[in-house]
Amino acid sequence: MDTLIKLADIAVNMDLEPAEETAVVPQTLPSKIAPCGQVVGQPVGHLPVGHTVGQPQAAPHRLSRQEAKQRALGIFHATVSGNRTIPLLKTMLTTACERNCYYCPFRAGRNYQRVTFQPDEMADAFMSLYRAGMVQGLFLSSGIIGGGARTQDKLLDTVTILRQKHRFGGYIHLKIMPGAEQAQVETAATLADRLSINLEAPNEGRLHAIAPKKQFAEELVRPLQWLTQYRAQKPHLRHASTTTQFVVGTGETDLELLATAAYLHQQLKLARTYYSAFRPIPDTPLAHLPPENPLRQHRLYQASFLFRDYGFDLEEMPFTPSGHLPLDTDPKQAWAQVHLLESPVEVNRADREMLLRVPGIGPKGASAILAARRRGTLSDLNHLRAIGVETKRPSPYVMLDGKRPLRQLSLW
Ligand code: SF4
Repeated sequence: MDTLIKLADIAVNMDLEPAEETAVVPQTLPSKIAPCGQVVGQPVGHLPVGHTVGQPQAAPHRLSRQEAKQRALGIFHATVSGNRTIPLLKTMLTTACERNCYYCPFRAGRNYQRVTFQPDEMADAFMSLYRAGMVQGLFLSSGIIGGGARTQDKLLDTVTILRQKHRFGGYIHLKIMPGAEQAQVETAATLADRLSINLEAPNEGRLHAIAPKKQFAEELVRPLQWLTQYRAQKPHLRHASTTTQFVVGTGETDLELLATAAYLHQQLKLARTYYSAFRPIPDTPLAHLPPENPLRQHRLYQASFLFRDYGFDLEEMPFTPSGHLPLDTDPKQAWAQVHLLESPVEVNRADREMLLRVPGIGPKGASAILAARRRGTLSDLNHLRAIGVETKRPSPYVMLDGKRPLRQLSLW
């Protein structure tokens, strides 16, 4: 089969995610599960904490002919390290798989035409697109054939050919296969810019219900631990950042997901945890389940950012008795309503950590406030606006030079 036809075949069935680490706010919140749990559809977690899903967004972007042609091959614009946006080819070495994850379109036994690339064939295909100016980076995954270690070897062979034979120095995001060996994972860490190992579920029991052939601790968590150890042992080496993804909506609670995410961020220093709202795929064992509400996915992103970037602990998340986050309020707002309405934060004295707890104040806003305080007293909402801090959301929760902001007083 022609190389481009094969790439297009993979792209259609992989239903690729349009970006990774993108700052673009989507018009809608689509999401599906792709092979080995890759997020498909725009991850909404890139929205800043406190933004509301459903707010008016920019009009949907109409694809140009060139963009449509790129998408058909699995190429889209992704924001990668350093906020650089590049055209990224997201593809697979093979869409054949011997495993049977219940959510996956490529699971063994599903009636589907499989496509396979050899490592040198994939490297050549990528370099042809690169030389034609169509791509600058690669996201490479695979179905599993002959075991995880054997499949990982093929992925590593592909990246080694790109790095050594073709001298490709650009962005590579490589998947780690369940069953990969420690030496393979360490080699991958030095070849790729980003590695991802998808946990899919928050614990062994939940994983068994949706991917009975995957072993949670041995196959999925352990490689993440190896990477953390390897970074600590070899700090002088250039290491790939690590991410993971969870399927959301097959019975697990938000508390389960976020407890595991807290461990991943705080103990294993993961760069990102992705949440992918479940959507049923025909001819799979979970085809009868309803699709998950994308708003739940959004709330999970907001909560995980709170303890990754804002200093919150898991125990501070506003879980309902059933272990879920409220859908109607973002978690930072929900926390502030309980803790800050009666005890507002004095903007002129609060430390950075406390400023970050105020809805509407993020890392940039906190820095701007700290800098402005060195020049004088902030006594009016206009002073906040002048330094680029929005005032609508913070105003119920702050004091300015000992007084509640006028806007809040006018509401009483
Ligand atoms: S192991 Fe195979 S069946 Fe499971 S998610 Fe990956 S590609 Fe799909």
